[in-house]
Amino acid sequence: MDLRALSEFGLISRVRDKVKCRSGGVIAGIGDDCAVLVKSNETLELFTADLLIEDVHFRRHWSDPFRLGKKALSINLSDIAAMGGRANFYLVLLACPSSTPVGFVDEFYAGMEAVAAAHGLSLVGGDTSAANCLMIGVAVLGEVNREEIVYRSGAKPGDKIYATGTLGDAAAGLKVLEKAMAGATFPVSFAQIERKVREEFPPAALALVEKQLSPVPRVEEGRKLAEARIVSAMIDLSDGLLADLGHLCQESKVGACVSLEKVPFSKELQALGPDFVRPEEALAGGEDYELLFTVPPGQEEKLFTLGLRNFFHRIGEITAEVGQVRLLDAQGKEVSLPSSGYDHFAGEKV
Ligand code: ADP
Ligand code: MG
Repeated sequence: MDLRALSEFGLISRVRDKVKCRSGGVIAGIGDDCAVLVKSNETLELFTADLLIEDVHFRRHWSDPFRLGKKALSINLSDIAAMGGRANFYLVLLACPSSTPVGFVDEFYAGMEAVAAAHGLSLVGGDTSAANCLMIGVAVLGEVNREEIVYRSGAKPGDKIYATGTLGDAAAGLKVLEKAMAGATFPVSFAQIERKVREEFPPAALALVEKQLSPVPRVEEGRKLAEARIVSAMIDLSDGLLADLGHLCQESKVGACVSLEKVPFSKELQALGPDFVRPEEALAGGEDYELLFTVPPGQEEKLFTLGLRNFFHRIGEITAEVGQVRLLDAQGKEVSLPSSGYDHFAGEKV
């Protein structure tokens, strides 16, 4: 059997079943957005890592290095946010072709450092290698108060499902970039990307491109939700709403029902017309890096007292149908989906 047949998540389950925990202090290993380790009586350590690989996660001919650096760190902060934590340290693993301009790498680090400065993190090491393509790995160490941590596994039937921000923007931004930057050559600046996008798309498309190239991790929102202790489960949206809701349901041993008409789509996405990215496609497309969370009935009013800067919407409800994620249209009829998210071994991403 090869990895295509096993699937990305089949592989992760296989690893999870085989490994043994050899050290004390592991509260949660494989299965959530971060590993959770004992730090002190009051605090837990959060440990997470993410990869960005050329021609899997990004194309170099539409990657502005500053934004690529921002994204590489932000997607890790998004996993810390999903557990209600804050980040402290990061490591960078960088592999590049030797023809890569030094200025590209400088800008890439400047992007990471801009995000690190905004969130109070320090770069403390990493590793470097030559390679045939750009490969970026970032690992982040963070922390969370023991009483505030939120896992993927706490959702119960009847809990309401909420998402921050709007969904599908990053998937739409990717489509815009692929079209607008088809003939571009590496390296590019954001000014070139901006000019090419403006030539072919309405001005609203730039906001979608920005969301694809430079997602904003919802760390402040994650912290406020965790501090309020009203959230039963949380995950960040990296693989697409339906896939990530599936992961949350799997860990919580529940099911979910989502109303398509309640899912928030941005005015920028809608400005590109109903067929540019269809709603079902937007929900299968990943990389929005919004937070998906569940709130028990009776706790919902408290959400509105938190002063969350980023708005949020109720999009569905947790059910007792274990492992079943259903999407309903405005008439309550089930919408069938071609695929519910991205599997790294099933095909190419970009
Ligand atoms: P996320 O989308 O939140 O980054 P992933 O879907 O990448 O999470 O991973 C799901 C879980 O599997 C996480 O707990 C992660 O640490 C773990 N994981 C992913 N890949 C591997 C691997 N190759 N070996 C061990 N654990 C892994
Ligand atoms: Mg995650």
